[in-house]
Amino acid sequence: MKRLAILGSTGSIGTQALDVVAAHPELFEVEVLSAHSNAAMLIEQAGKFKPNAVVVTDETKFDTVKSALASLPIKVFKGAEALNDVVQWDSVDMVLGAIVGFAGLHSTLAAIEAGKRVALANKETLVVAGEIVMQKALEKKAHIIPVDSEHSAIFQCLVGEDMEQIEKVILTASGGPFLGRKPNYLVNVKASHALQHPNWTMGAKITIDSATLMNKGLEMIEAKWLFGLKDEQIEVVIHPQSIIHSLVQFKDSSVKAQLGLPDMKLPIQYALSFPRRIGNDFKRFDFKDYAKLTFEQPDYKTFRNLALAIDAMHKAGNAPCVLNAANEVVVHAFLQNKVGFLEMSEMIEKTLERVSYIEHPTLEDYEASDKEARVIAAELAKNSQLSIY
Ligand code: NDP
Ligand code: MG
Repeated sequence: MKRLAILGSTGSIGTQALDVVAAHPELFEVEVLSAHSNAAMLIEQAGKFKPNAVVVTDETKFDTVKSALASLPIKVFKGAEALNDVVQWDSVDMVLGAIVGFAGLHSTLAAIEAGKRVALANKETLVVAGEIVMQKALEKKAHIIPVDSEHSAIFQCLVGEDMEQIEKVILTASGGPFLGRKPNYLVNVKASHALQHPNWTMGAKITIDSATLMNKGLEMIEAKWLFGLKDEQIEVVIHPQSIIHSLVQFKDSSVKAQLGLPDMKLPIQYALSFPRRIGNDFKRFDFKDYAKLTFEQPDYKTFRNLALAIDAMHKAGNAPCVLNAANEVVVHAFLQNKVGFLEMSEMIEKTLERVSYIEHPTLEDYEASDKEARVIAAELAKNSQLSIY
């Protein structure tokens, strides 16, 4: 029986993780749940899964959650700091990091500090501070198991393999809803359109990142740290059907891939049950439904966020942290129709130019760079044509 702390339980990953838990009550028990501001869903989940504790990080929602759960033996905590405590409890065997954005960094580090196994969905944690996170995980013997489908695919391909034998990894990308589109079309697209992902149903932020290809750039940086790769060992290929979830090429030229229907429940379940596989009733992949699996090169000129992320990966230091912060701000503004689709890349690029570069940042430096980048990106977003008119 594994006792889980599910951080971000009200999100797309969090709710699917709870589906996995509910299907296997003999294997998993919920010890902690956390949400930011969705009090209603957190209350409902707490009633169903009976955790020992819940954390609500938006403090204005604390009273609502506290009073709703008053008749149950469930501890209720508020604020981001509380996350760092609960993940370190002896009663927690494993932490699922499914908070979105930089906000997930500290609780992930706290879990690692306590030597907990972490199932990590929150890719921004590795984008921002991958070197520190992986170093700490090594020191504390804390295993990080990827939840992101591409990284889960690579992880599955590497079972039983020698890491030294990896020649390169190839991350697949669906291309998102605007695959094949050019700037003259993209200039006018709105959030409602960008939110229509062809293959995956996900939270709003990552759905926009998939439409701009920033998601694939973040995933390259995530792969670099997770698997200890050099930049030139990481490639991206567009594969619109999202059946091959990623590939590993070895030094003997053999290529391994992991395939399946696009359903996050599988990588979530694998991360929770690893090293075991467990049976389930998920829909099966059938070649008869897919006459063709196709591959093409990304259009780096049109989807500039991918090129910016690759530059930031090469530049290293605090550059990926700045890229991530600027991206979080402009995506938030785009979701409110306050900046245009193509403007997002311009604003991220300008923010990268303006924040001073730090070659070997400490955790405090990352926090400062994140804050500085947010101020600059917010200012740029405020001056967007869309915000003004
Ligand atoms: P969602 O937006 O659906 O959910 C985010 C979760 O984080 C919610 O529980 C939310 O609480 C909580 N949250 C939001 N802001 C804060 C904050 N400031 N402090 C604490 N908690 C917060 O996101 P997803 O589930 O889509 O994504 C989660 C992570 O997983 C992301 O890093 C994403 O990149 C990654 N991922 C997601 C995939 C997917 O299919 N969705 C696939 C691969 C990776 P509330 O609901 O109360 O706001
Ligand atoms: Mg992914």
